[in-house]
Amino acid sequence: MCECADALRLKKLNMCNNKNPGKLPGFFNFEPMENGMHENFMRMAIALAESNIEQRLGGPFGAVIVKDGEVVASSANKVVPENDPTAHAEISAIRLACKALGTYNLSGCDIYTSCEPCPTCLGAIYWAHIDKIYYANTKADAADIGFDDHFIYDEMACSMDERKLPFVQLLRDEALPAFKRWQEIG
Ligand code: ZN
Repeated sequence: MCECADALRLKKLNMCNNKNPGKLPGFFNFEPMENGMHENFMRMAIALAESNIEQRLGGPFGAVIVKDGEVVASSANKVVPENDPTAHAEISAIRLACKALGTYNLSGCDIYTSCEPCPTCLGAIYWAHIDKIYYANTKADAADIGFDDHFIYDEMACSMDERKLPFVQLLRDEALPAFKRWQEIG
């Protein structure tokens, strides 16, 4: 039911973007697509974040993926309701966009996220080959309310033996044949 409400709200927002720019009571002031298109997509991402809080569904984050001026997918953070630590708004939106477009390559798409991506989402955005990131809040803003991902950036900058998460290499000689087979098959 909540997802339906969100979908309806986004549909209204998108329709407003494309066909009926203007002011909606209780919503936002919209600019026509030609003026403020990026801001309108970002407002959708922010609306998802706000809705997530009000519905007590999860963290205050939302993301929208756009291709050729159309919303392909959108999602709020779903970590808590889905018991999935990777279900950040950006990653959830990427999963939905890939399903919607039938591809794992989102070249030609932009992502609008209500907050600067964490390292996990940034990696996913690179893997998805998304063209451009638009963000609103900064990672410092997120840290101020308890979502501090700086330790991950710090860990990534460390050498493997300096990281807090232990890395132990095992059975490389048994794992390498799969790589060699992959190369052979091409
Ligand atoms: Zn993230």
